[in-house]
Amino acid sequence: MGSLLEQLKQEFKEFYPEAGSPRVFFAPGRVNLIGEHTDYTGGFVMPMALDLGITMLTAPRKDGVFRLRSKSFEQPVEFSIEDLKDDSKADKKDTWGNYPKGVVIELLKLGAPVTGADILYSSNLPTGAGLSSSAAIGMATAFGLAEVAEFEVSKQELAFLCQRMENNFIGVKSGIMDQFAVGLSKENHAIFLDCTSIEYEYVPFELEDHKVVITNTAKKRGLNESRYNERREEAEEALKQIAEMKPNVKSYRDLSLDDLSLINALRYPYRERARHIVTENHRVLEAKAALEQGNLTQFGQLMLASHRSLSLDYEVTGKELDTLFQVQLEAGCYKTRMTGAGFGGCTVSLVKEDEIDQFIEYVRANYKERTGLDPEFYIAKGSGGVREIGEED
Ligand code: ADP
Ligand code: MG
Repeated sequence: MGSLLEQLKQEFKEFYPEAGSPRVFFAPGRVNLIGEHTDYTGGFVMPMALDLGITMLTAPRKDGVFRLRSKSFEQPVEFSIEDLKDDSKADKKDTWGNYPKGVVIELLKLGAPVTGADILYSSNLPTGAGLSSSAAIGMATAFGLAEVAEFEVSKQELAFLCQRMENNFIGVKSGIMDQFAVGLSKENHAIFLDCTSIEYEYVPFELEDHKVVITNTAKKRGLNESRYNERREEAEEALKQIAEMKPNVKSYRDLSLDDLSLINALRYPYRERARHIVTENHRVLEAKAALEQGNLTQFGQLMLASHRSLSLDYEVTGKELDTLFQVQLEAGCYKTRMTGAGFGGCTVSLVKEDEIDQFIEYVRANYKERTGLDPEFYIAKGSGGVREIGEED
């Protein structure tokens, strides 16, 4: 990365000629490998960090002013600590700057001695594609500013801080998975997270000769949020109905595959929604075991089963994701599934390096023929979580 970093430092200097030499931080994007629509019911998820992410260059200021630029957005953003209030809400005119601004507010609430900064962000992560660029910009900012201010805080605390920023300041209802994966991931590992206890475990994930290919359906985001909320409500209602039959059930975590016959007594759509959640949690546990045994084939089969359950039982795929899935199978990829909330968005596939060109060519042509849409492909490896990067990177 040497020369690229030099170039960024040069740009930083041009934007902020009077600033000192900047420190450089990197926060990865993430992809969820398995465990979809299980987070808000306190279940299991297993994401990994990607080597695509957001790089932040920052030098401190003493006057309480923050000046921000992003190479992904035209508009610079500036604000002063004096103008921030604990209960401020995102301001439309700050556009993308709301994410770092929300982070600064949360850091100040924790008592971090931040006194202003000049910042430049550069990203090779697509924004709004479901690879969690929002958690990446949040965690890069939170970690970077905390380090520069020599403020002692764990990455886990920073993950919660960024979740509060997105929930309360930006106003996005989201779980902790994204910030956790972006903050705490370890290279060559996936991260298994229990969304009830927030306990996590690193799971060895040797990609061998595979790479992670993320394919964007290129479907325009539409009424996704309302459908997402509808699923959350259906999942809650299904649990209520199950608890009426089996009173000691307080959460989906009290259910196992043995309860499927009970679940089958419910009606559509509650039966289907509950069945997905219970079987998906089980698949995450199986997927963890498969990775621990280095069994990528078994892992792939669980990815396929996860997609089918999300398509048939949870009904969050839609035409585009199902067509993409089908085309990928035809291309000979058996380690693939939708990832993210669904209704468009991306698939995640593990593809052998020397088959990637062929895979992309087949999927591009056939997906376009069937949907009229041009898919986008991102090829990635795994990565560690948020960190400072030096000259040698
Ligand atoms: P996702 O997290 O799936 O990428 P979100 O809608 O949650 O999508 O977050 C995207 C938002 O995060 C962008 O609209 C922008 O405000 C902010 N963001 C992401 N990447 C950058 C970047 N490189 N520079 C500045 N802001 C960014
Ligand atoms: Mg996001």
